[in-house]
Amino acid sequence: MSENWIELEKQYFLPVSKRLQVTLVRGEGTRVWDLEGREYLDFVAGIAAVSLGHCHPEIVAAVERQARQLMHTSNYYYTIPQVKLAQLLCDNSGLDKIFFCNSGAEAVEGLIKLARKWGKVKRDGAYEIIVAENAFHGRTMATVSAAGNEKYRAPFTPLLEGFVRVPFNDAEAIRKATTGKTAAVLLEPVQGEGGVNLPDADYLPQVRSWCDKAGILLLLDEVQSGIGRTGKLFAFQHSGIEPDAIAVAKALGGGFPIGAFIARDHCALLGPGEHGTTFGGNALACEVGYAVLKYILDHDLPAQAARRGEYMERRLHSLADRHPMVTEVRGKGLIWAVELDSPVAEEAMGIALGEGLLVNNVKPTALRFIPPLTVTEEEIDRAVEIVDRVLSRLEAGTPK
Ligand SMILES: *Cc1c(COP(=O)(O)O)cnc(C)c1O
Repeated sequence: MSENWIELEKQYFLPVSKRLQVTLVRGEGTRVWDLEGREYLDFVAGIAAVSLGHCHPEIVAAVERQARQLMHTSNYYYTIPQVKLAQLLCDNSGLDKIFFCNSGAEAVEGLIKLARKWGKVKRDGAYEIIVAENAFHGRTMATVSAAGNEKYRAPFTPLLEGFVRVPFNDAEAIRKATTGKTAAVLLEPVQGEGGVNLPDADYLPQVRSWCDKAGILLLLDEVQSGIGRTGKLFAFQHSGIEPDAIAVAKALGGGFPIGAFIARDHCALLGPGEHGTTFGGNALACEVGYAVLKYILDHDLPAQAARRGEYMERRLHSLADRHPMVTEVRGKGLIWAVELDSPVAEEAMGIALGEGLLVNNVKPTALRFIPPLTVTEEEIDRAVEIVDRVLSRLEAGTPK
């Protein structure tokens, strides 16, 4: 090839992204191809974003159609795609009022501002938000301040104040941390970046009833868990509770950037001029989001994700049976992690790449699998077979 893209990246980029040595040029369904034409099975899916697989015809059609029609106007005006998507998201989440943005971090920022405003108006100036250890909410200053992981926060102190951290999956810790200054609890129903951590079934119901009793808000970050990933449209729907507000992004755009937060009427207190965005909710992003969500609902992809997830669970458990180095298999729907007995996940990821599989090392000791919601059983078989070979090589002590 005429250009060395990897060298050019090193020359021009802040070195914040730890990239694998591969340049991807094309995708279709669960597969992507690199510059040399090598094919990979994609169980990263743009970090749970490419929900319908790469270059899904409905998404391509929505992009083409809306790009010709109208891409962006600002929110000084009404546009049709954003109203259609707002209605679909509100009606299917049971929540009332939406704000569109461009990313997950911005969506969570919105929840934080919502909690601050609500605390000011409804709870005597309460501003603290209880968050969980190992939580991930994004990379802006406010969302970094809310992060559970010290490594995300340490370089950027002083942080935004008012975040109180408690262990995940411990409702009692939330009760104890609640004071007159508490405005809200902010949680991921399933911790994604923290390593695919699922709480006990009674955790969210307990937190919900505590929040009701204490008169504070329950905010859920569904950026990774939402839009079908866990086998329901939203992960909170497994537990039968209703949050006061949620953040969504990732899978909603199917690979196109879009985010949103959605609140119940009683706490949707941001008024004229108190929040805003130039690009958020633009006609192109919303037309794509509408096409993605409509497809997911019409084809009941959450139910399909639940079924494929059960299949994947069986396959991963049989993998664990063959490989003593696998100490745990955990997940739900189509978000899974395999915990290893030593910090070899990065090495495993590299070997898997060479074998034609994209997975990621969500922790030094864990590999994460977050394929498109459209993944087939046959693709799951192939991915698990590759991981089987990767683990065999690691066990045999094969050097990289
Ligand atoms: C990815 C993620 C975010 C941040 O989303 P960006 O689009 O990267 O800003 C926030 N919360 C959770 C739970 C995520 O997984």
